[in-house]
Amino acid sequence: LLLMLLIAVGITMGFFFDWKSAWCSTLCPIHHVEKLYGGKQLFSLPNAHCTECVNCSLPCPDSTPNFHPGKAHKSILQKINALLIIGGFPGFIWGWFQVPDVYDTTIPIQLFNVYALPWMGAAGSIILFLCLISFLDKKSADVLIQIFAAAAVSTYYWYRIPELFGFSKIGKDGLLISLKNTLPEWVITFLVILLISVFVWWLVFNKTRHKSWLIRPVFAKRKEQAFHSLNKQ
Ligand code: SF4
Repeated sequence: LLLMLLIAVGITMGFFFDWKSAWCSTLCPIHHVEKLYGGKQLFSLPNAHCTECVNCSLPCPDSTPNFHPGKAHKSILQKINALLIIGGFPGFIWGWFQVPDVYDTTIPIQLFNVYALPWMGAAGSIILFLCLISFLDKKSADVLIQIFAAAAVSTYYWYRIPELFGFSKIGKDGLLISLKNTLPEWVITFLVILLISVFVWWLVFNKTRHKSWLIRPVFAKRKEQAFHSLNKQ
């Protein structure tokens, strides 16, 4: 029901809002995570979605160099969104992996149990983020945002990979294939630490290039103006 509802919302929004402002830049839960992790680009690719830019999203996540959710901070909602996804995400992920799968959510207390710890974790990491950022200038604040992004993705894989291969501390949650009787646990721990090191290096220590995800196409208005001036000639 939730998936069907979200599909209906996404399609309906497409009738009222331009291009990516309908779903991608707003309610899509994946896009916010992409924005958090995608701040350090190696190169920019041509834009395969937008043939011309109608300025649908300000700032455009695809075309703004070194974009992160904190770059959209004009309205109070954008500020709250940035704080939740940058400051709250590491704590939320940590809390999420402390809760076992729950199958009977008809009992209200079960729903509370599922969400209490993730939101408490999010609140804790938001408080930490706010304390730290209050001491920092703009440049150091950007580094702090990358540190929180690295903390979020590292926390995720710290728990997720052992879960996938049967080394979870809480039963069979998220199991893909059990390698418990095939591999010693230290192999998985080593792989996870290796992966986390790559994320931390990429997001925190790797140099920042002035690159966006995609190359912005020509603005629709400019295209129109060029067309009119050509017609006049
Ligand atoms: S390039 Fe322009 S039209 Fe395309 S998503 Fe970005 S702002 Fe919207």
